[in-house]
Formats: sequence, structure tokens, C-alpha cells
Amino acid sequence: MKYTLIDVDGTNCYAVFSDRERRVMLIDPAFEQDRILEACRGFDIDKILLTHGHMDHFYDCCLFSAPVYISEKDKIYIENRALSAPYNIFPYLEKRKYDIADTFSDGDRIAFCEYSFEVLEVPGHTPGQCAFYAEGVLFCGDLIFKNSVGRTDFPGGNEADMANSLSRIMTLPEDTVLCPGHGPLTNVREEKYHNEFVEYYIRRYKNENK
Ligand SMILES: [Zn+2]
Repeated sequence: MKYTLIDVDGTNCYAVFSDRERRVMLIDPAFEQDRILEACRGFDIDKILLTHGHMDHFYDCCLFSAPVYISEKDKIYIENRALSAPYNIFPYLEKRKYDIADTFSDGDRIAFCEYSFEVLEVPGHTPGQCAFYAEGVLFCGDLIFKNSVGRTDFPGGNEADMANSLSRIMTLPEDTVLCPGHGPLTNVREEKYHNEFVEYYIRRYKNENK
């Protein structure tokens, strides 16, 4: 898969390219529209996927002329500032209008040119956070980071859900590349054996399900 990470003011935006069709799909184009457009020069933006409904992942998505998709469960976050930006001030939010073309949920497939992404619902950070999986690469939003995991103390966060979601991701092949919403790329093997937060959550999940 041809893709690139664009660090937009601390959030990871990803662009997945189809050389064959000269099209690009964006994941979480939150800020710095100019830099994203520069990275995508020569490609038409086909669609935009949002991993979850936090403002630092979708703020600028409405500036692109491409349909935006988010999970059914996180759609309400887009219109509710108390949910989407609980601790942040985004000055122009009230003036912005976010049109959601359609929603997805667990098990759906998202077609983009020669790619087919499987949607994995991975709640915990938000109720409807989703990861997108294709060709050994998982775009996982704020579920897991290199040596860390997503916060569960925002509105709608849930530790038991987080434990379940992390367990699920850890069943993927160990060489699966993890493309998180912040920080460097990593992989399942690295986080399975060296991420103490993952260890904590999975141990707790096992105990709760005994
Ligand atoms: Zn978030």
C-alpha cells in the first residue's frame, strides 16, 4: 500500500494513494489543509475517513471538497462540541458546517480504488472509534500509540471497551503496521510485548472475563 503520514499540528493525517487512478483517500485531515493538499498534489481526493469524533482529528475536514465518513456511533460527536472538544477551544467551530456523507460500523468494507478496507470498531477512547485495515496496515486513531494507549477519561470513554479493543487488535498478525493518530508508527509485535498499558488492560480484561 502506498501511504504517507502528514503530521498536522500534532495529529497524524494519513493519505493513501492509488497511482493507478491518481486518487487519494485521507484519514483524519484535521489541520493544515495547505500542507495536506501539497502532499496530495496531482491526485484527486476521493474520500475522507474519520477514525473518531474528536475535534483534533476532524476540524479541517470540511474544507476539502470530498465526502466525509465517520462511524454511526461517533456521528453525534461532530455536532456536539461538549463531546468533540471537551477541553479545547477551537475558535471557528461554530461557523463551520460538517456534512457527513455516510456512516460505517464494524465489519463494513470501504472500497477505495484498488484497496478494500475492513472497518474494525474499537471503542474505549470514544464509543464509536474505528480502525481501518488493509494489506497489513491498520489506521487505528487514538486506540493505541507507540508505548501508550488512548485516553478513556473523555466523555464517552470506557476502560472495559478499551481493554476489549486492545485485545482484539493484538490478535492481528504481529507484523501488522499500526498507524496511530499521534506519534510514530509502530507494529503489533512491538506493542504486544513492550507496551505496559496494553499489558495492563489485557490482564484486567482477562480477570474480568474469568
Ligand atoms: Zn481522540
